[in-house]
Amino acid sequence: MSVLTIIEFPDPRLRTKAEPVTVFDAELKQFVADMFETMYDANGVGLAATQVNVHKQVLVADMSDERNQPLALINARIIEKDGAQVYQEGCLSFPGIYADVTRALKVKVKANDVDGNEIEHEFEGPLAVCVQHEMDHLAGKVFVDYLSPLKRSMLLKRLEKQRKQAATA
Ligand code: ZN
Repeated sequence: MSVLTIIEFPDPRLRTKAEPVTVFDAELKQFVADMFETMYDANGVGLAATQVNVHKQVLVADMSDERNQPLALINARIIEKDGAQVYQEGCLSFPGIYADVTRALKVKVKANDVDGNEIEHEFEGPLAVCVQHEMDHLAGKVFVDYLSPLKRSMLLKRLEKQRKQAATA
């Protein structure tokens, strides 16, 4: 397994729309294993293939405190949404940046597992947030897109400042 490089905003590759996965082979399983390793290494709760510059519809998540509930969804699509919730989101492509985003409270998702089987899951609360956030990445969308222009520019200035500080530290 290997830890992959996570691309960070404003890298234009984050705007790429991912293609559906059609081949469920050993290479895909290896890639999913690498995505989990990358996510756990970065202390993230979710990771989309887009963020490691692979433009296939693959996402991984684990919102458990024990880091023992790995979830991998291939070709995920939302078939039902219900309710609304506001949740403070962060993103491995925006280190140190957090913002409140409103999303559906519950989502029903159809997807494939790593073997290509059709699966269906219902997610609620934080895990529903995570899945919607990662699915956005696969569509070329990032969480700051939901913010007002003012709030967004404030956060992006902070991101720039942190980068400069990190570079001179
Ligand atoms: Zn993200």
